[in-house]
Amino acid sequence: MTRSFTYQALPMRVVFGAGALAKLPDEVAALGLGRVLVLCSPEQEETGQRVAAALGERSAGVLAEARMHVPIEVARRARELAAELGADGCVAVGGGSAVGLGKAIALEHGLPVIAVPTTYAGSEMTPVWGLTEGGQKRTGRDVRVLPRSVLYDPELTVTLPPGLSATSGMNAIAHAVEGLYAPDATPIVSLMAEEGTRALAAALPRVVTDGSDLEARAEAQYGAWLCGAVLAATTMSLHHKLCHTLGGTLDLPHAQTHTVVLPHALGFNQPAAPQAVAALSRALGGVADPARELWELAGRWGAPRSLAELGMAEADIPRIAELAVASPYANPRPVSREAVESLLRAAWAGEPPSPLRN
Ligand code: NAD
Repeated sequence: MTRSFTYQALPMRVVFGAGALAKLPDEVAALGLGRVLVLCSPEQEETGQRVAAALGERSAGVLAEARMHVPIEVARRARELAAELGADGCVAVGGGSAVGLGKAIALEHGLPVIAVPTTYAGSEMTPVWGLTEGGQKRTGRDVRVLPRSVLYDPELTVTLPPGLSATSGMNAIAHAVEGLYAPDATPIVSLMAEEGTRALAAALPRVVTDGSDLEARAEAQYGAWLCGAVLAATTMSLHHKLCHTLGGTLDLPHAQTHTVVLPHALGFNQPAAPQAVAALSRALGGVADPARELWELAGRWGAPRSLAELGMAEADIPRIAELAVASPYANPRPVSREAVESLLRAAWAGEPPSPLRN
């Protein structure tokens, strides 16, 4: 088959490296911003205050109320506060929750967002926003919410606990996996997916053993950047659909759910995605069955491997399977309710993914 693809680059500026936070005032000034609101989670208020102090008079204040899945009440409060303080931009410091709050403000007021990510979730690279109202999460794509500038400073990730480092890293690898078999995969994005997976798989064992290993942290964050860029550039499939459904319906924790589901979703898709299997095999050191390897790695890194461990009741499996097939979406292998239910049963029980047979 001859090559054929469409590639759309996103306008994105990335400043990467240990100590990059010191360049934040310059980034704010380069965007012509004079009063930025700093956003973070309550648990990271100290980091938020440090960032505000580094910004000096360019900081309008700190809002330490970011929450998973951006509840609409929090988004409204942040939008009001930004207007009250006369903020002309936001700096989101933290994981996907803080970045998501910045995006919620940008969506309504068009304020530019600068992101300073401290997990490996990847939201900072995407134009995808999410808002949760009345237990329902809505998501959409809008280039206005894409951060104008992203500062990756591995020094800010040394406090990420081993458990969350491992699961957040798997969350990033999940973007790469689905990017490799996406209907809109392109050569440059596939290179990023393979290299991102390689970097994360190499760095995470060291990160989990010694969270203060700055070299390993930098390598993991480099991988997370690449995987986030893959998420932004491609259409996600069964795995992300399942995690979205599990998170939205049962409120399961984001990164942990990705970690448990990924080997099973990949295991299901592997027979229909030989190029993805080849790329992942190279990225994971020449293994024959990448899905099985991801399951083994999760175990070695002390990450959860069953949905039961995350608090899901077995009785919820049929409902989630039903919801996950209710509307059509791209997937390399046709998806049936029965297949999803059996995949979920294995993930719930913590069994290994089904073996890859050639
Ligand atoms: P999170 O942002 O909720 O962070 C999890 C916890 O870790 C929080 O308590 C946070 O304060 C803490 N934390 C973060 N960095 C830390 C650090 N360096 N040291 C110590 N503690 C730290 O979790 P997440 O997994 O990064 O993000 C999940 C959210 O992001 C979900 O709502 C998900 O839907 C969204 N998301 C969106 C996109 C997108 O493209 N729109 C992509 C990925 C994730």
